[in-house]
Amino acid sequence: MAKVSVIGTGFVGASSAFAIALQGVCSDLLLVDANPERARAEAADISHGAAVANGVRVHSGDYQDIAGSQVVVIAAGVNQKPGESRLALLSRNASIFQDVLPRLCAVAADAVVVVATNPVDIMTDVTRALHPNPQRVLGTGTVLDTARFRDLLGRESGISPRYIHANVLGEHGDSSVLCWQYAQVAGLSFAQYLATIGKTWTAQDAARVEEKVRGAAATIIAGKQATYYGIGAAVAKIVEAVLKDSRAVMTVSGASDFGVSLALPNVVGRDGILHTITPSLSKEEKSKLERSAEILRTSQKGLLENGKLLV
Ligand code: NAD
Repeated sequence: MAKVSVIGTGFVGASSAFAIALQGVCSDLLLVDANPERARAEAADISHGAAVANGVRVHSGDYQDIAGSQVVVIAAGVNQKPGESRLALLSRNASIFQDVLPRLCAVAADAVVVVATNPVDIMTDVTRALHPNPQRVLGTGTVLDTARFRDLLGRESGISPRYIHANVLGEHGDSSVLCWQYAQVAGLSFAQYLATIGKTWTAQDAARVEEKVRGAAATIIAGKQATYYGIGAAVAKIVEAVLKDSRAVMTVSGASDFGVSLALPNVVGRDGILHTITPSLSKEEKSKLERSAEILRTSQKGLLENGKLLV
């Protein structure tokens, strides 16, 4: 079976590793961290869960041990403090990636790389700039935001979020675009479905949901300093899509016609992003997506130009 490595085993990396181990889609799982004690302790803890779940072999190690991995998750870096935006993390995390990527690519340049570190869209571009096979790099994008959106629509409608089709596109951040145009239940628009169960849906209700989706991370960080279970589950789903070549449509972040990596509906399989789907958006959604791309282009200035790192 397959081998997966996780670089950076703090809250996000360790939760991702735990979710991957419970999912049982790989045979070997390697944890690497700048703090080897941390990686060792997380590997031991997760392997005790794996022993009563799927028997995945969990180890800790160094970069040379990553060789032979089909997928490498990068969650190394600093996270947001209360009140801090994701974009504020950029320069610190970009310099961590300048340390991580050459060491990773020296041993596993063919692995699909899943970037979770924030600001994830720009860190995806930083990774692409540092990688000899940039087409094998993708970011977690808005897979988590999309899950949050579907969860809230599920609660509003009394339907399992698994059966609600809805996407968040653009930046994983304040300018993300919630697509109401194709939020659907069994082919009905969300508002049409609610009408069938005697509920009304207003612009104020939609605005309330949008605020909750965009504010979810800040709310969780205020309560417990970091978010990690949701992103851990999202990372495990992406890893599964790659290892099983399942061609899942996921709002991962990848190269786009906007000149920056951002989240669009992408078909994910063995080689990472296989194909990007152009969504059918309303005029308003299109202009919000263009604005989100503009924010990402502006935030990259001084760091990246035409896909190349300037520093
Ligand atoms: P954390 O501080 O708990 O863990 C970060 C880990 O990275 C630490 O264990 C640290 O030792 C390690 N690290 C630092 N430099 C390293 C290096 N050069 N090589 C290897 N390891 C290194 O932080 P966290 O809460 O796990 O967050 C990690 C990242 O994930 C942050 O950027 C955070 O904002 C991001 N995040 C992303 C999403 C998403 O949706 N993509 C969601 C939540 C958090």
